[in-house]
Amino acid sequence: MADARKPVIVVHGGAGTWRLDRSQSGLDGVKRAAKTGFEILKKGGSATDSVMEAVAVMEDDGAFNAGYGSSLNIEKCVEMEASIMDGKTLQAGATGLLKDIKNPVRLARIIMEKTDHVFVVGKGAEKLAKIFKLERRSPLTELRLEYYEQQKKALQEGKSELPKLTELVKDYPELFELDTVGAVALDKDGNVAAATSTGGFALKLPGRIGDSPLIGCGTYADNLSGACSATGVGEIAIRLVLSKTACNLMENGKTAQEAVEIGIGLVNKRISNKYNHMGLISVDLCGNVGAAHNSPNLCWAYVTPEMQEPVASLTARIVK
Ligand code: ASP
Repeated sequence: MADARKPVIVVHGGAGTWRLDRSQSGLDGVKRAAKTGFEILKKGGSATDSVMEAVAVMEDDGAFNAGYGSSLNIEKCVEMEASIMDGKTLQAGATGLLKDIKNPVRLARIIMEKTDHVFVVGKGAEKLAKIFKLERRSPLTELRLEYYEQQKKALQEGKSELPKLTELVKDYPELFELDTVGAVALDKDGNVAAATSTGGFALKLPGRIGDSPLIGCGTYADNLSGACSATGVGEIAIRLVLSKTACNLMENGKTAQEAVEIGIGLVNKRISNKYNHMGLISVDLCGNVGAAHNSPNLCWAYVTPEMQEPVASLTARIVK
């Protein structure tokens, strides 16, 4: 087992299917994010700073479904969401329904630290962003606009209702790439933190909130257990309170890897007959790293003090 004071960061750039022509940009992006977060930890920075900056790098990248490059909803609009949690204090911040905040994760941190609330969405969140002078940027990219047109066409060709999502996903897997971003870290003081950011599910209904900003579902961190960030079909992570479930497992003695594998096993067992792709990353209090998924891919990277450079991959332990 690793030394409890050795800093560790794990990041993900989403579960789902990573198309070959896009996979290198995904791998480069998660590596850059892991490196940025790890540099902060190496200098003695906090796990919270580390996960926030790592996620912000991926929000700025354009390769992921978070910040710049977010998926479009059914009305061709972006509604971004993000959350962050500090395992030392159990403070958390979350936000959603954001149209043009450059880094939703920074707004989640402001909500955590500067308000009495955990979750602020829509106009109120935009107002806070203005007060705290957060940068704005249109999240629209050519890639997502192209996907939107393809999706719309698929819908117009008879697969016309969202409850038919399972069939749509079967026929057009690339349209439903789940490339949300997240990070979990342990700092040298033994504090853990987690953050997650997303544009949400492609073709979602306006106003739909997924797991990513929901504390316990997409994001959880507690110095008594560890930290976890989820990606995949948000409604599943919500129903299974998946990140908190993985943290409970770590609190009860499971390693980070065991906890995420059990978590994905739970998804397979309890929600088996639906489109149920999920991925989880985690870190435990001993600095062990965890990553598992039931989707074809999980784009992820991690760094420990023993490593010179982040290691990135398009798969982790696949739990069937
Ligand atoms: N979990 C996200 C959501 O359902 C999607 C993703 O992970 O890409 O909004």
